[in-house]
Amino acid sequence: MQVRFDPLQVAPSPASSKPAMSEFIPFSPPHITEEEIQAVVETLRSPWITTGPQTKALEAEFCELYGAPAALALNSCTAGMHVGLMTLDIERGHEVIVPTHTFCATANVVEHVGATPILVDVQADTLNIDPDQVRRCITPRTKAIMPVHFAGHPADMDEIWAIANEHGLEVLEDAAHPVSAKYKGAYIGSGSNLASFSFYATKNMTTAEGGILTGSQELIEKARVIGLHGMDKDAWKRFDKGGSWKYDVVTPGFKYNLPDVLAALGRVQLKRLPEMQARRREIVARYSQAFAGIPQVEVPQVRSYVDPVWHLYVLRINPDRLKIDRDDFMRELALRDVGASVHYTPLHLHSFYANKYGLKPEDFPVSTQEFHRIISLPLSPAHTDAQIGRVIEAVEEVCSLYSC
Ligand SMILES: *Cc1c(COP(=O)(O)O)cnc(C)c1O
Repeated sequence: MQVRFDPLQVAPSPASSKPAMSEFIPFSPPHITEEEIQAVVETLRSPWITTGPQTKALEAEFCELYGAPAALALNSCTAGMHVGLMTLDIERGHEVIVPTHTFCATANVVEHVGATPILVDVQADTLNIDPDQVRRCITPRTKAIMPVHFAGHPADMDEIWAIANEHGLEVLEDAAHPVSAKYKGAYIGSGSNLASFSFYATKNMTTAEGGILTGSQELIEKARVIGLHGMDKDAWKRFDKGGSWKYDVVTPGFKYNLPDVLAALGRVQLKRLPEMQARRREIVARYSQAFAGIPQVEVPQVRSYVDPVWHLYVLRINPDRLKIDRDDFMRELALRDVGASVHYTPLHLHSFYANKYGLKPEDFPVSTQEFHRIISLPLSPAHTDAQIGRVIEAVEEVCSLYSC
């Protein structure tokens, strides 16, 4: 007999202090329509379900929309960054400069290729990599800089390119957040250097798991081989009509390709991205309007020369005006069924990086201080106005209850 979990038969917790009728507001639910479902089903009914025509089409459409010279769809942004570092021949003995205020994948991939991630502090307003700190860390072993466009707000790319050009460094962008964002009028990913985008479930557009690496034709062709077992050109066609069973392995590559089932989902999400971003902007405007006058919190800032996208809405608490700290604030939001999060615990506070490189919190004063103030509020085009209203009420209530 099959035992099934029936949520209706689970008794409500008697100790629950939640207000009645309250429903949990998830942090970042995906926004999937019938069109995505149809596209996936059609691909499942087709004779080809893994990397093939849908993946090729996704790559072409991404290039067309966002001005990328070439693109390679992969099964994650992490895979794109790993392949990217290998494509740039970064290996043991090399150093790669990474902001400490990022997701672990940015530095993990540097470890994967045997190189050394050099963590640097960030700018207080955007939490993006600080070019002044980058300059201070350049050594003869430095090979690349990996800026992160935190929350969808582009990093200081003119400054980063000035440093890179001066020292002959590569720039590999962790573009997990900024799909369709612009820096001084140019789309992130439209350059000839490598940029790796994420289509993870919570990101601005999703394939559940997936990503796309952009860059020059030459770099992307090399990355394509490394990302599929190191087999030479177009080996994915080998089971198809007109494909050849013959291939040569030129390097021991990785299995990082994106299947057509997921690319079909991604193509619809890519088409719907402007509409989904419009809804995110609406929510952001509501949040910032509501919170701008509350002294216990600070709203996110946007620099004048960027067109950001909104992957995250990062509110900062003002510890001088509150009797509780950030962790307590998060607990209060959780009690009110608001699914908030923190992006990120900086890498220098994680045991692996702290221990391996002897890093201390005070080595990264900005990131360490801001880490204790940041709260990412629910943000998804799937959220209703009523849900956003409840998040605002919860934040206002916690601020007024614990103000000082
Ligand atoms: C999500 C994320 C990644 C990893 O993306 P995946 O597609 O899950 O591999 C890398 N860097 C940052 C900053 C991210 O937010």
